[in-house]
Amino acid sequence: MTMKKTLALTLLLFNATIQAQSKIPADFFKNPLAVDLVLSGTFGELRSNHFHSGMDIKTQQREGLQVLAAGDGYVSRINIQHYGYGKALYIQHPNGYTTVYGHLQKFSPAIEAYIKKQQYAKETYEIELFPKADELKVSASELVAMSGNTGGSGGPHLHFEIRDGQQRPMNPNLFGIEIKDTQAPTVNSLWVYPLGENAHVNGSGERQRVKLTPLKDGSFKAESINACGEIAFGVNTTDKLDGAPNNNGIYQIDTNLNGDNIFQLNFDRFSFSETRHLNQLIDYEYFSNNKSRITRLYVQPNNPLSVYKNVVDQGTINIQDSLTYLYNITILDFAGNERVIRVPIKGQQPTNTITKKTKETDYLVKANEAFSVEENGIDVYIPKGSLYEDTFLDISFTGDTIHFHEDNIPIHSNITIGFDVSEYSEESKEKMFIARLGYRGRPSYSTTYKKENRFTTGVRTFGDYTLASDVKPPSISPVNFKDGQWISSNENIKVRITDDLTGIKSYRATVNGKFILMEYEYKNNTLTHDFSDAILTETENKLKLIVIDNVGNSNTYEATFFRK
Ligand SMILES: [Zn+2]
Repeated sequence: MTMKKTLALTLLLFNATIQAQSKIPADFFKNPLAVDLVLSGTFGELRSNHFHSGMDIKTQQREGLQVLAAGDGYVSRINIQHYGYGKALYIQHPNGYTTVYGHLQKFSPAIEAYIKKQQYAKETYEIELFPKADELKVSASELVAMSGNTGGSGGPHLHFEIRDGQQRPMNPNLFGIEIKDTQAPTVNSLWVYPLGENAHVNGSGERQRVKLTPLKDGSFKAESINACGEIAFGVNTTDKLDGAPNNNGIYQIDTNLNGDNIFQLNFDRFSFSETRHLNQLIDYEYFSNNKSRITRLYVQPNNPLSVYKNVVDQGTINIQDSLTYLYNITILDFAGNERVIRVPIKGQQPTNTITKKTKETDYLVKANEAFSVEENGIDVYIPKGSLYEDTFLDISFTGDTIHFHEDNIPIHSNITIGFDVSEYSEESKEKMFIARLGYRGRPSYSTTYKKENRFTTGVRTFGDYTLASDVKPPSISPVNFKDGQWISSNENIKVRITDDLTGIKSYRATVNGKFILMEYEYKNNTLTHDFSDAILTETENKLKLIVIDNVGNSNTYEATFFRK
């Protein structure tokens, strides 16, 4: 073979590889449930501090639906947590993609046995396992689990995710998984932001809502805006699919100015490392006050999100005096249904002076510099990059409490707050913790690190923090049995555990001195031991359960039950 031919062949092979990598298989993944797909959540949907990384599939308001492997492969990871995805299964497929199944009730018998063995060996319910490729092979549409409601789930459903070779979540719809959707996205409100120093909209320097008139063709016409300087827009929009009333996320937003595209937001794929930047995509202050999310149709400084495409001038518009503009917003769902908003803008010099509400304080924190302050034995350390913008923070100290701004600007990475506790006795220090004061001053536990006379905590939410004390141990009460009772017909034993202030840190149950697995469900404060674990062989069973809260208060519950 000549050199030239070899090179040509190599290039050909190289191109084929590239194509194989970039081409998304449209018929590899199957429905992971045996029922029709109806969604209560879509990919990219705006959630608390993150974008939704998969689709939430409805399970007929109940648990226990069969969950099927979406394709051939092997179980590569099992993660069982009290919170998050609860019981979650990861399948690695030969084409390089991983599918994830979350909030499961339980696993298929073979997988369940594999997990239980490890849970008993490590004496823990929460566990993370990485089975080898030859341990738990699965075929497409094979039963792998039962759907449930474990972890941070607001009702029974299956969280289904597809990740690429770099573990970046991708929109499952791209893989040919079709969901019926004949309705265009809903526009709830449109907003305009005067951004530049002297920019104004209708004479004001503040964010304003723009009135919309629905037209016969389904599009919206906005009221004409008078403006000058740099401005940008934001929209509150959701999408309904057929067969469910849920307000889900949209797929894409495009904007153009006088016919030229200036901005696109698209949910094909993102990475977990960027997901918290959602707080820059939304108007965080508005969200904080109204619990409703405005999507900014422009990109603020220090925002590295990869969901933006083809952005010109950050998506903002520079309005010149006496010129006219037409700004169009097109909102799409994955099925291609679109909603258009047309906004006429007139350039007009302001007739009044434009004022912006920036409250200056003693504490100007630069986004790209570290910052620290100390008073009353309370110290704060803000690492570089914790804030997205240079911001005047409102900080004050009263006794053991720090008022650390208000929760109306986002924090990206942990800020450390430290308390000097040398004034307190050893005994009281043991029961003390750092609390965030919530609604009506209710303290909630902030993970507290204790080192002699210094307590520290990492925070990612502004608010009031203080020293608090928890002297009450967790409470424990049996749910489906009594001390001394015969319970041969029970399938399980359930115990209710609660803690008033700092929360449950750990629990451990034994019967006749031997560890038994109890599954903790924080949503109903219940620990459950399933007799099908076949660990109990005696007639007389002495149960001992120790529950410890986050400052170390401990409670022990003992009871005897009989079964045969
Ligand atoms: Zn989900």
